[in-house]
Amino acid sequence: MTRNVVIVGSGPAGLTAALYTARANLQPLVIEGFESGGQLMLTTLVENFPGHKDGILGPDLMNEMRAQAEKFGAEIVQGHVEKVDLCSTPFTVKTGDATYSAKTVIIATGASARLLGLPSERHLMGHGVSTCATCDGYFFRGHHIAVVGGGDSAMEEAVYLTRFAETVTVVHRRETLRASKIMQDKARANAKIKWILDSEVVEIHDTAKGEVDSMTVKNNKTGVETKVPVTGVFVAIGHTPNTALFRGQLELDQNGYIMTHDGAKTSIPGVFACGDVQDHIYRQAITAAGSGCMAALDAEHFLDNIPEHLASV
Ligand code: NAP
Repeated sequence: MTRNVVIVGSGPAGLTAALYTARANLQPLVIEGFESGGQLMLTTLVENFPGHKDGILGPDLMNEMRAQAEKFGAEIVQGHVEKVDLCSTPFTVKTGDATYSAKTVIIATGASARLLGLPSERHLMGHGVSTCATCDGYFFRGHHIAVVGGGDSAMEEAVYLTRFAETVTVVHRRETLRASKIMQDKARANAKIKWILDSEVVEIHDTAKGEVDSMTVKNNKTGVETKVPVTGVFVAIGHTPNTALFRGQLELDQNGYIMTHDGAKTSIPGVFACGDVQDHIYRQAITAAGSGCMAALDAEHFLDNIPEHLASV
């Protein structure tokens, strides 16, 4: 059986695409992926998703989206996609234990924030550790917090966070920042921003309490470790788009993000992309959901005007 729509990924983009294609009677199949529900599963309170005036927990929001898509007939299966063939039609999508054939594919595999790799960082994620200043900055009014990284994202997040925090300490592993001069200048001119250079965060405390109260920073030149009191640690060391599967088949930009044009269209007709896998700028749940809607409408339009060789399969 060839599916009308196979959606890869189950974050806000994938589940919105599922909702729209289900309501269009296209019986979409969603393959969840390892990180079922996407990055919001790692968040606590989400206050900027319209329609929830008192905020909603990230995992609750994703469960609602999932239930809403299923209510209209979306089929959601567990599984991690191991291989895709987008070069011949119908398209083929393979998981560990099944092979699906599809007239259209919507890619919503997201991007993963790069992490330091500390067990305490994982443990305290959403409890003082964050990878999204726009999402969580508001919770740190009057606090002393840290941003890790020396690129444009780290500078942008540090400057943004000074709207809320009393001080923002940037911790960067080298003496020289990677960020563009203009972003560096902006950050350096901000009196609320403090600097710890040539240093790495080697531990975030306190996992026993379940909240952040300090971090241990190690100077890479002297090896000296210092405990710095902070109540929040924003990790801003870049993102990796989850596009390894599509390399060599779809057009990607220099950072590996899928290139889209005219809505959610990719370089292959019938293959659409939405959410963070094609967006390194906005990266919000609401923009991901919006682009999921666009991908669904584009897929629906494609199926309405389907090329003859696919119409009969
Ligand atoms: P990035 O440019 O790759 O910078 C990542 C930073 O994190 C680097 O300073 C790097 O250190 C550090 N880092 C990486 N792994 C680390 C680790 N394991 N431990 C400690 N530090 C680590 O990433 P980005 O800042 O997210 O920017 C990505 C792209 O988006 C860039 O092209 C950037 O210009 C663009 N961007 C533009 C804007 C803007 O113009 N408004 C805003 C945000 C992003 P090293 O320097 O030592 O490698």
